[in-house]
Amino acid sequence: MGAQPSVAIIGAGLAGLTCGTALKSFVQNIKIFEKSVFPGGRVSSFRAGEYEFNHGAQYFTVNNPLFWNIVSAWQTDGIVRPWDGWIVELAKGQIVNSDLATQRFVGVPSMQEIAQNLARQCELVTSANISELERQADGGWRLFNERGDYQGAFDIVIIATAAHQVADLCRTVAEISNPAGRVDMTVCWSAMLAFERRLKIPYDAAFVFDSPLSWISRYQYGVKEGDADCWVLHASPEWSQQYAASFRGRVMHALLDAFWEASDLKARKPASASVHCWKHAVPINPISEDSLFVEEHEIGACGDWCTAPRIEGAVLSGFSMADRVMKHIHKNYA
Ligand SMILES: Cc1cc2nc3c(=O)[nH]c(=O)nc-3n(C[C@H](O)[C@H](O)[C@H](O)COP(=O)(O)OP(=O)(O)OC[C@H]3O[C@@H](n4cnc5c(N)ncnc54)[C@H](O)[C@@H]3O)c2cc1C
Repeated sequence: MGAQPSVAIIGAGLAGLTCGTALKSFVQNIKIFEKSVFPGGRVSSFRAGEYEFNHGAQYFTVNNPLFWNIVSAWQTDGIVRPWDGWIVELAKGQIVNSDLATQRFVGVPSMQEIAQNLARQCELVTSANISELERQADGGWRLFNERGDYQGAFDIVIIATAAHQVADLCRTVAEISNPAGRVDMTVCWSAMLAFERRLKIPYDAAFVFDSPLSWISRYQYGVKEGDADCWVLHASPEWSQQYAASFRGRVMHALLDAFWEASDLKARKPASASVHCWKHAVPINPISEDSLFVEEHEIGACGDWCTAPRIEGAVLSGFSMADRVMKHIHKNYA
């Protein structure tokens, strides 16, 4: 084939951004298309007036040695730090256990900074909702957004979105759309609360049992000044699924009630309260492949739905994708 190929990556979550940064010293012409205004996907931040929250991923853990190396580099660059918060398990307002053993990391100052930092190293096009991929007779792909506007032609396309979006975009390539289409995702209602005064809660975060909630966490970065207190609540997958189509106001009331019960505090009015429904929160049945690539059509897919339902899974899948693309280029374009 000769010449340097061009690469389009669809989705600027951690999988797409990892793939893009790993490829950039190898391929000159790479563009990442992101439908949102900001990169990050499920590690993005939520702003409610003067308050800001991590409303998706709250922290990450590290198991894989390659991911350890990446996290060490992020730590050296000041993008992440170990989280030494006091994390407990709660049942009906009582602390039933303390989790002191697990090493967790958070983004600095917020989880979104991990994505922002990677995005600064890439050519990123935001507000670009890619809705159609058209295969060219002589090879390569043409990209179009949801209004049908042409977004460019690329030799190689990587789809780094959640599984259902991969299945939709890649419907002409059964080797990718079939496995992606079989992945189910949980629903997660998040509530973001700000109080004018600090609540008398001694711990920083808790896994919650016997409740509509599964997780509550104090979020200090959200507080710009004074004695305010910000909390993020995540409803359990079962409760979220049951109330997926409910009105926001109803969900907010139910989650607030559950918060007061879980924390064993008297109810009070928050200064700010918002809810967000993650309709595709985490994959339930990842496909256990690091990434997918179809050589013949020069199209691939990656994301947490390939590997494991967490940040580590997304990053490792993005790396695997970059590795496969590099090998393909070496074989076919060198
Ligand atoms: C509520 C919640 C809590 C979580 N908690 C944790 C946790 O504590 N620890 C942990 O490790 N993980 C957690 N996770 C999981 C973690 O956030 C994900 O595993 C990880 O961020 C997935 O990254 P990704 O790049 O695979 O996908 P995503 O982050 O979903 O990125 C995909 C990107 O593609 C974009 N996109 C989609 N379609 C298109 C299109 N057509 N055109 C252009 N762009 C498109 C999206 O906007 C998005 O930015 C949590 C997730 C949620 C939702």
